[in-house]
Amino acid sequence: MRTILVVGGGYAGFYTAWKLEKKLRRGEARVIVVDPRPYMTYQPFLPEVLAGSVEARHAAVSLRRHLRRTTVIAGRVIAIDHAHRTATVRPATGPAFSVGYDIVVVTAGAVTRKLAIPGVAEHAIGMKHVEEAVAIRDRLLTAFDQASALEPGPLRRRLLTVTFVGGGFSGVEGFGELLSLATALQRKSYPELSPDELIFHLVEARDRILPEVSDRPGRWVVRSLEKRGARVHLNAELLSARNGHVVLSTGAEFDSELIVWTVGNAANPMVRSHTDLPIDRSGMLTVRADLRVGTDASPVADAWGAGDDAAVPDLAAKRSGAATVPNAQPNAQNAVRQGKLLARNIVATLRGREPKPYVHHSLGTIATLGIGRGIFQYRGLVIKGLPAWLMHRGYHVLAVPTWERKIRVLAVWCTAALFGRDIVSLASVQHPREAFLADADLTPVPTSAQPGVPVHA
Ligand SMILES: Cc1cc2nc3c(=O)[nH]c(=O)nc-3n(C[C@H](O)[C@H](O)[C@H](O)COP(=O)(O)OP(=O)(O)OC[C@H]3O[C@@H](n4cnc5c(N)ncnc54)[C@H](O)[C@@H]3O)c2cc1C
Repeated sequence: MRTILVVGGGYAGFYTAWKLEKKLRRGEARVIVVDPRPYMTYQPFLPEVLAGSVEARHAAVSLRRHLRRTTVIAGRVIAIDHAHRTATVRPATGPAFSVGYDIVVVTAGAVTRKLAIPGVAEHAIGMKHVEEAVAIRDRLLTAFDQASALEPGPLRRRLLTVTFVGGGFSGVEGFGELLSLATALQRKSYPELSPDELIFHLVEARDRILPEVSDRPGRWVVRSLEKRGARVHLNAELLSARNGHVVLSTGAEFDSELIVWTVGNAANPMVRSHTDLPIDRSGMLTVRADLRVGTDASPVADAWGAGDDAAVPDLAAKRSGAATVPNAQPNAQNAVRQGKLLARNIVATLRGREPKPYVHHSLGTIATLGIGRGIFQYRGLVIKGLPAWLMHRGYHVLAVPTWERKIRVLAVWCTAALFGRDIVSLASVQHPREAFLADADLTPVPTSAQPGVPVHA
């Protein structure tokens, strides 16, 4: 029996394996998925995880629950030696081991782009993974609790200052959602804080945000964020974030407790440097329109690729040579469809048929900007505000894989509509032993050392 190895169980890998399970005849091939995470992350829900509108666990689609006939290996592929049809897997604990295969599917996605800016590695949080979204939300909620116990002043201002670096799709969505949460928190639950103290900065190096929509709707998004109190810095580069002190190329400087890094994607380092498969100049897998690795002139046998780690020719684009690469959002649309086609093409070749090329015409761009606010664009058609937000929710609840996930997400939205969002920070889960290691430290502190603590009646 043939072994099909899927490297990465994210969007493209999950759909490839899921579809293969449905298409393969018994005994035709076995499927192995290797991923360090036991779940596929439904990344479009991360902005709502930030805002507490989607439960973190619901953005994680379990591989073992939904891929019943697939062998799931928890580990990271650190090298692919396609000449010998072998991948090296490093598990979280224990020594690395080899996995042999007949066919490899490379769907390891992209990684967050890093720039050597002082303070970013120490202070900023990315927004590509569930744990990052949870941490951002917890940091904001903790900052509210801490600020509410202080008198107005620099420390309180720093705690209530949030900075997003990168005004692309995920940055703007995360920014809009977090701003919506913070505004609601201040209004409903923290009367001791004033709305002017909430300072949200969005920093973008180019002269516009959301490159996925055209100029006018892009400008509308800036205006609508500014109306909500946000400060949008265009043509501004982050120069330093050392100790949370933000310095911009425009000369602006401020302290910010929470810095979120959303500057886009870079090539997956394993794909770029640790395989003998062909890659292009940006480190992306070279893939043909039928999703086989290689070029039309020199295809690589038994190797396939899709998603954010692969430069798949975009046959729907007017420009020749265009590829469906990350940062040309909305890319999940491509990853899902490529995953499904990839499975069909593998089954076709196993049965002696020709694979089909990938052609997908974009369904448009849709983004949430916080509860009740969104933007949608399809060619010349632009829809703004509540209708776009409802379309966003409708689209994503239908798009998240499996009915079980859809129902869980819907249930949370319905309960939140009745009772509001949960607003408790669980940042303390990072230190679970603190509670029993340290009995409450009630050593008196001279009150003069805590000048900011307000006296509650
Ligand atoms: C916040 C956010 C919001 C977004 N919203 C939208 C949206 O609204 N619409 C849209 O179309 N797109 C959206 N996207 C983009 C979309 O999520 C991605 O394009 C899509 O996830 C790409 O799928 P993929 O399978 O290529 O990669 P991923 O989904 O990133 O999956 C890659 C998988 O490979 C695993 N992996 C990585 N390296 C290895 C290795 N060495 N060995 C084994 N496994 C490995 C990873 O753990 C991961 O599970 C959003 C992205 C983000 C971050």
